[in-house]
Amino acid sequence: MPVFRAAVRVVVLPLVVCCAALAATDPVYKAMREAGLADSLVVENIVLKRDAGVVTLKSGAIGFVAPAMGRDTVAVFAGEGEFDFTPQSPVDRNYMKSLTGQESVAEQFDRALFCFSDETGREIRASAKTPSSDARLAEALRNFRKLLRSRPETPHSMLEAELTSDAMDNIEADLLADLYNPRAPGFFSAYLHGRKHSDLRFHVRPRGAFPEMSTPAEVAVINLDIQAPQEGIWYLSHLQGELRSRTASSDENQRTVEADRYRIETAIAGNDHFTATTGIEFHAVTEGDRVIKFSLLPSLRVTRVTSGGQEAAFIQEDRKEDGSFYVVMPEAMAKGSAHQLLMEYSGDRVVHKAGGGNFNVGARESWYPNVNTFRDHARYDLTFKVPKQYTLVGVGTLAKQWTEKDYACTQWVSETPIAVAGFNYGSFKNKKITDPQSGFVIEGYANSEPPDSLARARNVALVGTMSPAAMMNVPMAQAQAAVQIFSDWFGKPEFTRIAITEQPELNFGQSWPTLVYLPLFAYLDSTQRYGLLKRISPGLTDFVDEVTAHEVSHQWWGHMVGWSTYHDQWLSEGFATFSAGLYLQFTEKTPEKYLKYWQNARLRLLEKNAYGRRANDAGPLWLGERLDSLRNKDAYQAVVYGKGGYVLHMLRQMLYNPKQGDKLFIDMMHDFVGQHRNRNASTESFQRVAEKHMPHEMDLAGDGKLDWFFSEWVYGTAVPRYKLDYTVTEADGGKFLLKASLTQSEVPPDFMMPVPLYLDFDGQIVWLGVFRMRGSSTSSELHVTLPKKPKRVMVNYFHDILEAL
Ligand SMILES: [Zn+2]
Repeated sequence: MPVFRAAVRVVVLPLVVCCAALAATDPVYKAMREAGLADSLVVENIVLKRDAGVVTLKSGAIGFVAPAMGRDTVAVFAGEGEFDFTPQSPVDRNYMKSLTGQESVAEQFDRALFCFSDETGREIRASAKTPSSDARLAEALRNFRKLLRSRPETPHSMLEAELTSDAMDNIEADLLADLYNPRAPGFFSAYLHGRKHSDLRFHVRPRGAFPEMSTPAEVAVINLDIQAPQEGIWYLSHLQGELRSRTASSDENQRTVEADRYRIETAIAGNDHFTATTGIEFHAVTEGDRVIKFSLLPSLRVTRVTSGGQEAAFIQEDRKEDGSFYVVMPEAMAKGSAHQLLMEYSGDRVVHKAGGGNFNVGARESWYPNVNTFRDHARYDLTFKVPKQYTLVGVGTLAKQWTEKDYACTQWVSETPIAVAGFNYGSFKNKKITDPQSGFVIEGYANSEPPDSLARARNVALVGTMSPAAMMNVPMAQAQAAVQIFSDWFGKPEFTRIAITEQPELNFGQSWPTLVYLPLFAYLDSTQRYGLLKRISPGLTDFVDEVTAHEVSHQWWGHMVGWSTYHDQWLSEGFATFSAGLYLQFTEKTPEKYLKYWQNARLRLLEKNAYGRRANDAGPLWLGERLDSLRNKDAYQAVVYGKGGYVLHMLRQMLYNPKQGDKLFIDMMHDFVGQHRNRNASTESFQRVAEKHMPHEMDLAGDGKLDWFFSEWVYGTAVPRYKLDYTVTEADGGKFLLKASLTQSEVPPDFMMPVPLYLDFDGQIVWLGVFRMRGSSTSSELHVTLPKKPKRVMVNYFHDILEAL
């Protein structure tokens, strides 16, 4: 579920005139939003220390924007300044160095904007007394506001997409949240116009420095510099105090509220216009907060919000600005108290006609106002009204179906709490099969006609024969097999149905609870696929074999078992990669595709790109979405999907033994799913489950832990190389003597790995035992008597270990 892809695939539609005046605006917010400079002071050597960062205002002037509720919250600086920042941990210093060439930041700047709800105002005023009339300040304020309040139609980089997502910061709204809650701990944000980096941002925010990245980390240094090699999140971690006292945790709860139930009524008109209401029941997590931030597509314009029948103020700037949606509750909420909100909104850009009865669903997660999507589970009751020639497929169970005039109406109710709601929409034919063993229902939905994009651009004769609906049986059968395999290996699914649905994009799939989007290519026969792929992208053939299994496995990885933070997303995407491999192993007649699958993942990780970089070198798996950069554009995909898959695959291979086969691994996976059902897993909680199930032979460090394995493969980037030397000679009694030794190289001295040795007896592969390797070294020579002569002796036959090319 890559965020950036979702964000850039926006079809540009004619501009819709937007007229929704803010029905109920908060007066304090309105004043802050429009406030100009109130007073300016001369500054000389003012030092602001915040966490691991030091902002020094050497000389110049600072202007304060008119105070809000009697407090300074925004100040702008022009002059000579310096920002210094040194990360505490080696992982963070290494990553910063890999991006910037330096282990720490030392940036000279000439302008800065400070936004704060902490003591910054008092601190500056205590040491600056002389009034200034620096003309640069007003212009600097204007420029910073323009920069921080604008939202591009199409983001130009993954980082820009994250910073300008549906939940982008509206700084004044964030400040308002703290002003209204005297208990709020106070935050500090500095936006720097540096000499080397013109948009460098430093945040110390106890409520989360970068919530869009799904992490409770409070401190961030971000360099937004589109198409520049140093663009990236240079630092994102917990407060220094938490790191020092080892209390930093991915499970830290910074939510303001938690959703319990959504009731959403949505009407889609013939012109794709969207009109909807969402009722949400939630409870307050914090004491005294009034401001709640929702994720909602900014082109869906909110017209009214009520709380228990009473009008509530809300904030939603224009969709081309910082148009995120915030509600201001009429009163401060007590911790644990239950509340309700009813929100009315309408707009466009959620669904787009793609021709032939096909639709792109553009706003896949933010078509309704939501909090903590993918992180919290809530119950949903969804009603849709759509033109009656179309079919809408929702999540959960179809509770009711009826028609109203020209509209087909359906109601969908979630059987169990789910992490997100979605839908698909089109002129669908549908089918249904019930798995005889489990009673699990597989529904298929596909269009009879291909979308215009295909009909226009490609081989017309070929397109004429295409009917995704005619091919629907193939992905449905794939889904049925996948559900059977994953139920055996991971445990029973949480849901009793799954809808396998077509969407008109060629090359991506996505998964919701009980609902899967498959790319158009999954519905083409091999002749059609070949005819189109030779023009479009030859690499897609493999993708088509794997995509159904990958997306179906997300019913387990992502939906049944969530992930805590961006560090842990490999537990969703990597596990889905592993699952698709498992599917190939059990559904293909020969092991070829399965072995090629892991070989391809290995090539994507270890082949050098045009800049001479390997995806694997972008940084450890633990860094997740932060791994992409200009010179390593595919690192996130290769590492989080590919290496994440390898980590689970390597565990499986280590847990294997000839007597029990995969039993230990299967037990571990059932336990992992059982412990995290409807909860979020973290790398640490997965490691604890793995440690519980590992046999004595995997305890290479002798401490009952798998720290050795996780530090190598999740927190490290080393990749070993192996060289096997062996001889097979005739021995007494018609037997054969195997002498073998193994060399491990290109790894740090403490790098340990058990390496399995295999024999090939005329195509039958036999597991013989393992070499326990440590550092760059050669094992002692192994002597084994064999009953017959093997054709080959091999290590790493099943890609048991991610090995250097
Ligand atoms: Zn996926």
